[in-house]
Amino acid sequence: MYFTVTIVVFNFIASDITRLSVSLLNQKTIKNNVNFHGVGLHSGKLTNVCLKKSPPDTGIIFKRLDIKKKDNIVYPNFLNVSNTSLNTTISNSQGVKVSTIEHLMGALFGLGIDNVLVEIDNEEVPILDGSSKEFIEKILLAGFEISNKPIKIIKVNKKVELKKGDKFISIEPSKLSLDIDFELKYKNSLIGNQRNKINVYEDDLKEIFESRTFCLYEDIEQIKKNGLAKGGSLENAIVVKNDIILNSEGLRNTLEFVNHKILDCIGDLYTSGYRMLASVKCSQGGHYLTNKLLRELFKNKENFSIIEIQERNLPHTLINRSLLRSIA
Ligand SMILES: [Zn+2]
Repeated sequence: MYFTVTIVVFNFIASDITRLSVSLLNQKTIKNNVNFHGVGLHSGKLTNVCLKKSPPDTGIIFKRLDIKKKDNIVYPNFLNVSNTSLNTTISNSQGVKVSTIEHLMGALFGLGIDNVLVEIDNEEVPILDGSSKEFIEKILLAGFEISNKPIKIIKVNKKVELKKGDKFISIEPSKLSLDIDFELKYKNSLIGNQRNKINVYEDDLKEIFESRTFCLYEDIEQIKKNGLAKGGSLENAIVVKNDIILNSEGLRNTLEFVNHKILDCIGDLYTSGYRMLASVKCSQGGHYLTNKLLRELFKNKENFSIIEIQERNLPHTLINRSLLRSIA
């Protein structure tokens, strides 16, 4: 869309191929339709979503089925991000929007889905249980369809960093991985300081995908005054009051707060249009800072390249398809 594609034939050594095997596969879409139904976290509106297979090189596309008169297609591109207040909202030139796309986008990134049509009949992607768990489970059940078109990946060539008060985010080159190192610092003693570092293409991301959105009990009134969280409940968010978690089931994993921030980060990074080879470090950031980082990164063509990985250029015997795990 915005970029020229550089075709690069890699000289991988065997170990590199084994590690990156899933990323070396061709472009993927879903085999069967996937349906989701639920309330929007901020809008409170009941919404249906249907994911449909789409052809190679079309990317992720949102289509608002409830809007007929205007252009109802919205691309989840960082330049179309119009609101980053407690969610990531995308809008097209006619103001047609889709909000809270980040957990679905995180699931699509993690599963290595390159192309899919997201049909939605309202303005906000359902929050479901506050994580990506249901997205992941249902997409895995639907299965994948692999095309004969090579995948494209963004390779970061130069470091870009941003600071805003005590918040910080940076992105820099990484040879064959997407690493995310994220840190949270909360005054609330139960959340406190949490930090986790993951390799998106190698690690088991189960705990990232199952981690729910969260908020402090004392912030809820203000959030609702701002017209947000109309659909929020203990069914779809962790609520922390002082040193107590109000959800009776407690946490799903010990780093659930920072793990959710990493999920948000993966989803927001996917508004770049492709998966990435990069190393991201963030302290206390969120949707706003990640979007600002992408805007800075893509301002300068020297900062990145888009590489097309052609599987047929690689020795097939070295690509072990059995390594194709649930996460790409
Ligand atoms: Zn989130």
